[in-house]
Amino acid sequence: MRYTPCGTTGKEISAIGFGGMRLPTPQDQQASIALLHAARRAGITYFDTAPFYCDDQSEAIFGEALRTMPPSTLPLYTSSKSQDANGDDFRRGLERSLSRLGVERITFFHIWCVLDPADWQRRVDGGALATALRAKEEGLIEHVAVSTHMRGPEIAHLLADHPEIELVTLGYCAINFPYRREGVAAAARLHKGVVAMNPLAGGVIPQHPGPFDFIRSADDPDVVTAALRFLVSDPAITTALVGFSSLAHIDAAVRAVEHFTPHPPEHLNTLRARIEQDFNEMCTGCGYCLPCPQGIPIPQYMDIHNLLQLNAAPDAIAARFNLHWNLQPEGAARCVECGLCESRCTQHLPIIDRLKKITAIRL
Ligand code: SF4
Ligand code: SF4
Repeated sequence: MRYTPCGTTGKEISAIGFGGMRLPTPQDQQASIALLHAARRAGITYFDTAPFYCDDQSEAIFGEALRTMPPSTLPLYTSSKSQDANGDDFRRGLERSLSRLGVERITFFHIWCVLDPADWQRRVDGGALATALRAKEEGLIEHVAVSTHMRGPEIAHLLADHPEIELVTLGYCAINFPYRREGVAAAARLHKGVVAMNPLAGGVIPQHPGPFDFIRSADDPDVVTAALRFLVSDPAITTALVGFSSLAHIDAAVRAVEHFTPHPPEHLNTLRARIEQDFNEMCTGCGYCLPCPQGIPIPQYMDIHNLLQLNAAPDAIAARFNLHWNLQPEGAARCVECGLCESRCTQHLPIIDRLKKITAIRL
């Protein structure tokens, strides 16, 4: 495993982190715990969870796994979050996370899912930030972090204005990096840790290896390896948060970053230029656009739009509608253009226009 310095925290963190958002079998606690233990054995030191993940089971599963972790000389860093703007609610959320994880202190506790600068101001005005800092003084939090879907320049402002934030978690991958590149650069300048979540674009990259093949170097066995190496080659990125669904996935991710010489900056820049040209503005399936008041399953329709952008064959598009999602194009016509989803979209996508385009598809 490769370990990366995390800003000014004094910690070195595994270049691959364990993302607890989509445990493959949350109903089978033992299987999930076995996955967490395998990650630990593989040298992963960063374990990220949150309330509400996996039908609100993730933190409890992490807690059970932590209590029975295999012995290791490596440090273990926990990460969880609260979305509450109100300071008292934030405190209750923190105490619940501590209790579920069964720890006296959480290494990185996030002010979670900051959507835009106004949302950030709500967290400040409501007392969430002050409460987090107080909890740090009390020793309940080791480092105050923020997780955000803002654009790069907005992230850069937030980090510059708040030296007390020591780590930022953001959606960052080979597809969407242009949205947040400026934020990542600011984090590096300001010596903050950076956690890249959704490093495989919510499955878009592994599901379409063909169009992404150009990001593979000669010694990359597949595009998943290439996409992870794309991230870990960036010295600003502390860890890439991977949602593992099997032991084989853990092995593959660890192999991707072990014994690997990071791409030189010139190669990385060539890749970035090509990606920017070809894959701008794809949906990563994060789901933050939901709920839609019309009940439209927006991420599923945007996933279909991703296929349009990838010039997928009509058969593949029809299969995505019928077999994968059980949707019809006309379902997208229920959109009344209220704009709620676009204001929440982490990628700032023109969802309304895309739904219109989907409505016009004839299967
Ligand atoms: S703009 Fe359309 S898809 Fe978006 S939330 Fe409103 S009704 Fe739903
Ligand atoms: S449309 Fe935007 S918010 Fe919704 S799932 Fe896709 S990227 Fe995420």
